[in-house]
Amino acid sequence: MTIYADNAATTKMSPTAIQAMLPYMDETYGNPSSLHSLGQRAAEALWSARETVAACLGGDPKEIYFTSGGSEADNQAILSATAIGAKKGKNHIISTAFEHHAVLHTLEKLKKQGFDIELLSVGERGTVTAGQVAAAIREDTCLVTIMYANNEIGSVLPIAEIGAVCREKGVLFHTDAVQAAGHLHIDVVAQNIDLLSLSAHKFHGPKGIGVLYARRGISLTNVIEGGAQERGKRAGTENIPAIMGMAAALKEAVEHIDENAARVSALRDKLIAGLEQVPHSALNGDPKNRLSGNVNFCFEGIEGESLLLLLDGKGICASSGSACTSGSLDPSHVLLSIGRPHEVAHGSLRLSLCEWNTEGEVDYMLAEIPGIVEYLRNMSPLWKDKVSGKKPFVL
Ligand SMILES: *Cc1c(COP(=O)(O)O)cnc(C)c1O
Repeated sequence: MTIYADNAATTKMSPTAIQAMLPYMDETYGNPSSLHSLGQRAAEALWSARETVAACLGGDPKEIYFTSGGSEADNQAILSATAIGAKKGKNHIISTAFEHHAVLHTLEKLKKQGFDIELLSVGERGTVTAGQVAAAIREDTCLVTIMYANNEIGSVLPIAEIGAVCREKGVLFHTDAVQAAGHLHIDVVAQNIDLLSLSAHKFHGPKGIGVLYARRGISLTNVIEGGAQERGKRAGTENIPAIMGMAAALKEAVEHIDENAARVSALRDKLIAGLEQVPHSALNGDPKNRLSGNVNFCFEGIEGESLLLLLDGKGICASSGSACTSGSLDPSHVLLSIGRPHEVAHGSLRLSLCEWNTEGEVDYMLAEIPGIVEYLRNMSPLWKDKVSGKKPFVL
């Protein structure tokens, strides 16, 4: 038996998405830039996918750029907005301390080039307010880049309010919506979003394909140079099968968005209520404004990696910190950003659910996890010191 509770890392593809890809691998395999009919049929499919994705986001098909995924879209959005800013002598960028590394590492690169990066603090609940953003915007601010929802702790940020502030002050607004797309309602027009990134493999689509939405009039900087694909802004023969799979997966997710959210959040709440019974534990992230599938806990006195291995032995696929940082000894920058001390941040567990998880799976996880936590604590010298009163409890 395998229980997959790592949907924030990646998802299983939906059968609809797989079916949508197949014809573009064997029948309609042409290059959309070719003038013959096989190529032109691929070009028509490409346009229809662009229309589908645009409709799901509330934008125009000409504002959709296909990329290799969320990371590339984040890089291109930020490099484009800052290039526009630099031309006007503006070099101040506002973001948050708990963005994905695709954003943070791009900002670090820009810092070396002389940009002034301001990372807003996200507080204990892991969110920022539109008021914080408004207070931080200066004459020389060229970009606000703030994620829609956090991939580790699941907080959902007030994107429409932040978008309104940015539009009023005339500052470009990018949101990394990789965790939101297909899970939360997005309307780029109503929410005043100028640039948005998404990635298909986070909503039951294929890996290695994503979208950069860029509002009309925003001139993009190329990250990949070459042919004239994507209106000259992203070179490389289009990955038509993946693009078709992504469009089908996004359409399906958006069509079922409310019923999926209701179903998944009920499972999430049951899991949270059960894990809260574990002594010296704490839920990470905003308890209310939270992704419907996200459960993230710190358990004092254990190592997240050991917990993952034992859970894997019980057939439970989970994660500790983000997949990108596992393997390094540094605790998650997200948990540190919400004020968890290093010691506690090391003992984190993320269970991320989707609409295919069942109540039986939640019951099984709740039957297994507390015992494994206790087993690991009993082996820990640090835990013994806490129990005997030599060292204080943190949680
Ligand atoms: C997964 C993820 C990314 C990266 O997307 P890829 O398609 O894997 O490159 C970026 N941002 C967030 C919030 C993510 O969860």
